[in-house]
Amino acid sequence: MRYISTRGQAPALGFGEVLLEGLATDGGLYLPERWPSLPSPLPHGEYHEVATEVMWPFVESEMPRDEFAALVKDAYCHFDDPAVAPLRRLDDKTWLCELFHGPTFAFKDIALQLVGRLFDRQLAGTGRRAVIVGATSGDTGSAAIEACRQCDALDIVMLHPAGRVSETQRRQMTTVDSPNVHNIAIDGTFDDCQRLVKDLFADESLRREVGLAAVNSINWARIMAQIVYYVTASSAFEDPTTFVVPTGNFGNVFAGHAARRMGAPIKNLIVASNENDILPRFFSSGSMESTAVIATHSPSMDIQVSSNFERLMFESVGRDASLVADLMATFAETGTFSVPDDVHRQFGDGWAAERVDDEETLGTIAAVEAEHGIVIDPHTAVAVAASRRRSGPGPYVVLATAHPAKFSDAVKSAIGVAPQMPPTLARLAEMDEHVRNAPADVDVIATFVRDIADRAAGRSVDADYRERS
Ligand SMILES: *Cc1c(COP(=O)(O)O)cnc(C)c1O
Repeated sequence: MRYISTRGQAPALGFGEVLLEGLATDGGLYLPERWPSLPSPLPHGEYHEVATEVMWPFVESEMPRDEFAALVKDAYCHFDDPAVAPLRRLDDKTWLCELFHGPTFAFKDIALQLVGRLFDRQLAGTGRRAVIVGATSGDTGSAAIEACRQCDALDIVMLHPAGRVSETQRRQMTTVDSPNVHNIAIDGTFDDCQRLVKDLFADESLRREVGLAAVNSINWARIMAQIVYYVTASSAFEDPTTFVVPTGNFGNVFAGHAARRMGAPIKNLIVASNENDILPRFFSSGSMESTAVIATHSPSMDIQVSSNFERLMFESVGRDASLVADLMATFAETGTFSVPDDVHRQFGDGWAAERVDDEETLGTIAAVEAEHGIVIDPHTAVAVAASRRRSGPGPYVVLATAHPAKFSDAVKSAIGVAPQMPPTLARLAEMDEHVRNAPADVDVIATFVRDIADRAAGRSVDADYRERS
């Protein structure tokens, strides 16, 4: 399997290279050159067995099947539910698919536990090192750090918007005391953090010098890992399933598109957004227009640019990379672009998008608790609210993307009591934090990344980052 860029100006690469590159050199995102078909009948068995089968066509040119199967099994053995992504019934047509049973209690673990191991394997034996750089609005950071903290060949630099991630999310990242883990609180928004990461990757010499690698949801391997639970969940029902997906960067719901292209019985994909509603506005108007970020109770969805949407654009315009490149150039220049009518119409078929505000989010947490005795987190609540607006027949599967204890303030204001804390989260409050602050300035961050790579390579760099900035 080869991978091609959505902007058509970067070389086609194999899985191993795409894994380490993240963003394509032309600024585009990598996609497989064709969609493989799922085996028929759909694979059954333990989650890791289905996962190996579903993902195998994407990696088969890269490693022996036994090795891949072992790696996948290892990635999912740390989950606290043997089903990994269990379904839980909510009402007569709605189920939750719980994606928060990994080590950091968020759905990002499902992709990152695998991706960390894939990185380690890719670097092992070559004597190469890599610096993973990522931006997080909350959950990606801790999940990525958790996936990399024990990897000898990796450093991880995680940027988060200062004061804009929850206390628990921050502590999950900053209490990790490991020499290869570097947290930076950026004076800015999540979009600023994301832009910094993009700018770092655009710096060819830095990329090569330090072996820059990404784990953000632009990384193809993450999308690949997320295809699996769409397959396991949809195969549990007789009728084609509608998935309702709490959406930020569009990685999760794009994996649903991939699963559907591969033949999974998926009827509709519903994009559930909070007040940062760039996608619902696009679905209704055909114009993508970014505006300022609004802080909500579902901070992992507080973004105004959904990077992975470019992948769906590419698919919707018949994989016309030059058209995508033009639209994205217009977007970068003006903060807006519009698609032709015939392209816009395609988003009415098998897709829908809903905007849910904070008030309805809290109201939904309260209603679900009152009606079903189940406590859900605000991200999940956005999707439950979106599913409740749909009148068509089920099954509806709402992806439950975080454990409620990660967002205990919002949950408490909805139902009056804080959700029960898992012991590993409760312990964080007493631990020391390791974090430094920096302006949203790419030169400052680039210097820091070079220093880390130098230190990791055993060269002495005496100037401290703080003095330089
Ligand atoms: C990351 C995240 C999302 C958004 O997922 P995308 O793939 O970025 O669309 C939703 N909910 C939670 C809890 C998350 O951590």
